[in-house]
Amino acid sequence: MRYAIFGDVHANLDALNAVLDDISSADVDGYLCLGDIVGYGAEPNECIARIREIGAVTVAGNHDHAAVGKTTIEYFNSEAREAVLWTRETISDENKAYLEGLPLVRKMGDALTLVHSTLYAPDRFSYILNPFDAEMCFQRLETPVCFVGHSHVALIFHKADAIEPAFVTDMQFGESETAIVNVGSVGQPRDLDPRAAYGLYDTESRRVEIRRVEYPVDFAIRKILDVGLPQANAIRLRLGR
Ligand code: ZN
Repeated sequence: MRYAIFGDVHANLDALNAVLDDISSADVDGYLCLGDIVGYGAEPNECIARIREIGAVTVAGNHDHAAVGKTTIEYFNSEAREAVLWTRETISDENKAYLEGLPLVRKMGDALTLVHSTLYAPDRFSYILNPFDAEMCFQRLETPVCFVGHSHVALIFHKADAIEPAFVTDMQFGESETAIVNVGSVGQPRDLDPRAAYGLYDTESRRVEIRRVEYPVDFAIRKILDVGLPQANAIRLRLGR
């Protein structure tokens, strides 16, 4: 099976459409979404609709849970919190029910696992930033590969003898190797590259590829400002941080 894996869309429809357009030329068997469909951006309903339309297998992110009151927003910064409150007012009841129903972890048979944050405490929404965090996930991993989001930075933790973190765009895993792959963010990249990020994974060859896609950033910025969301949520899109 060949999958397109994406996450952290953050209500950025322009970025999502550009990514789906790019995926259409990649000949995939299915779409996997790592959560944070909403939050920060101006088009939460439209992004949920697109993701449901393509039938993506999806897990919940902290912003999805925050938008339906399933997790606290105490640790959110003020711009994120303002966007959560706006999103709560903006999303339809049907979309709220959809977000409420998303699981935190999903296993796709024996092939791979999806989680927004970590496998050791998926409802606490911690980050996997170093080999120590990664090891705690590897201990709970039951498939060769786990895909994660949350940090908005593409990064692969590859485990052969030791755990090696790698900022690479392409990697093939051997039979006895496991990996935790962060595919970066569609709607709010934070690695100083404003282009949308997503991943492609082939379960047979065990090859993962991280792709970057240009999208009309100015459109997304204009929409954020037009609905009255914080300016910081808009400006950071151009900076990729
Ligand atoms: Zn996010």
